[in-house]
Amino acid sequence: MQTTVQTLTSLNPATLEPIGEVAVSSPEQVREAVEDARRAQRMWARYTMGDRARLLRRAAAVVAQRADELARLAVAEGGKTLFEAYAAEVMPTAEAFRWTSRYAPRHLRPERLRHSSPLFRLKRSWLHFEPRGVVGIIAPWNYPLSIPATQVAFALAAGNAVVLKPSEFTPLIAEKLREVVEEAGFPSGLLQVVHGHGDVGAALVDARPDKVVFTGSVATGRKVALAGAERSVPVTLELGGKDAAYVRADADLDVAVAGVLFGSYFNAGQTCAAVERVYVHAEVAEVFTERLAAGARSLRVGDPSAPETDVGPMIHAGQRAVVERHVDEAERLGASRLSGGPVETGLPGAFYAPAVLVDVPDDAALMREETFGPVVPVRVVSSDEEAVRLANDSEFGLTASVWTRDTRAARELAHRLEAGTVFVNDVLYSFASPDAPWHGHKSSGTGITHSRYGLHELSKVKHVSIDPGLLRFGYPWTPELVSMMRNAVGALYGTSGRARAAVRAVRAGARARLR
Ligand code: NDP
Repeated sequence: MQTTVQTLTSLNPATLEPIGEVAVSSPEQVREAVEDARRAQRMWARYTMGDRARLLRRAAAVVAQRADELARLAVAEGGKTLFEAYAAEVMPTAEAFRWTSRYAPRHLRPERLRHSSPLFRLKRSWLHFEPRGVVGIIAPWNYPLSIPATQVAFALAAGNAVVLKPSEFTPLIAEKLREVVEEAGFPSGLLQVVHGHGDVGAALVDARPDKVVFTGSVATGRKVALAGAERSVPVTLELGGKDAAYVRADADLDVAVAGVLFGSYFNAGQTCAAVERVYVHAEVAEVFTERLAAGARSLRVGDPSAPETDVGPMIHAGQRAVVERHVDEAERLGASRLSGGPVETGLPGAFYAPAVLVDVPDDAALMREETFGPVVPVRVVSSDEEAVRLANDSEFGLTASVWTRDTRAARELAHRLEAGTVFVNDVLYSFASPDAPWHGHKSSGTGITHSRYGLHELSKVKHVSIDPGLLRFGYPWTPELVSMMRNAVGALYGTSGRARAAVRAVRAGARARLR
């Protein structure tokens, strides 16, 4: 019997030309990929941490060698501008391999655990960080190299194998990542890539890897979490955002305008941690907004492969339609657009010029739902209180930023803002710094990727405890042992008569020994 192989065609988002295709994986092939990865992982688990580090370092070098090829594909398949491709795809990928090669050995070294309870103080305990096994990584299209590559580097560093399911829109660059890992010399089959639509992602969870790391929308993340729960597969979720920037009256406006432009329009606004709402203090609102709109108008939109292009196309027309829906609704509700909107570039892709809107009602979709495009609403506030209240009035909590010259006030605001990362006079950057934890609060995610916490999340923590035989309790229980325990509780945790209780506990213990 002949079976037809379904294929996925990858399109250039700027030109809409096909640039390659991959075969769609069947559920059976997904299961086989997990099994093959499991076999490769058994071999990988025998490598020393030093060997793992050596290969991770080599992977960073392979990325550097192939930087131009990777960047060109990130432009052709992801619609990134050239600068974005190098800065946000290639460089974070190399850095993730380099960082894990340097720091995974330190963070995964067995840790001595010193028990605080006097009952157990003489025991010798250790925490071991063991590989989980096979990690399923389900990735989005917006950073199609650096997101899965960082997660792959962390998973491999922790001794795991990986089965990666990239987005249907960016399969080719995932194949390049597989090639990088192979060329670096990791055991064959340690990184498997399966392709297809959402059902292939679902099949990956169904194949019961030992852990799933999902990056994508809140709606899909919830489905993946449910599927994981039904199969006892732990799931880390890195989901969407509606990140707020608060520009205080004392902000350096040059810094704030440049930062918000970057935060809102980098990757055509298709960044989970993009600035999607700006709250600006009334004292500086007019000048800030004028300068922001002028800055947005000055950005050059067009062919992403031209080095001077600032903003490339959106990934596809469906994503631009979300932007148009949010902007149209806001305008119907009374908002004004100061810049941007649909634009002709001579290319057929879904381009949208950077937009700034004012007077958008707080309950408009543009203020509440993830827009994921080059548009930002600016809302005037009259105090820190109001800014924090509005910034926190969101189901999301990925990042937030505060723009101010007052560092003390910024720290205090950082405590009150509900987000996994709070930047002061900065935005976005820490995704590209693998030492910083990356995670969202509220609906923006559960669990952590990157940093030592991310390494630990990809490990099984095993407590190994050795009893040196210096203090043992055992049957039969006696009145003396009961008295010892009772008085020990009073001595250790009571608020009065502790010294007396301690003496009684010691005496009872001595009597228990003598019997
Ligand atoms: P989606 O949620 O649509 O898809 C993410 C991945 O899940 C894709 O590979 C998709 O496949 C796959 N998928 C779809 N349905 C299922 C399913 N039922 N079970 C398992 N996998 C499935 O997100 P996008 O690709 O559109 O990415 C954009 C979103 O990602 C935004 O919300 C953005 O904020 C978020 N994001 C979050 C980041 C973070 O670190 N917090 C970073 C980057 C993006 P397919 O593409 O074939 O549909």
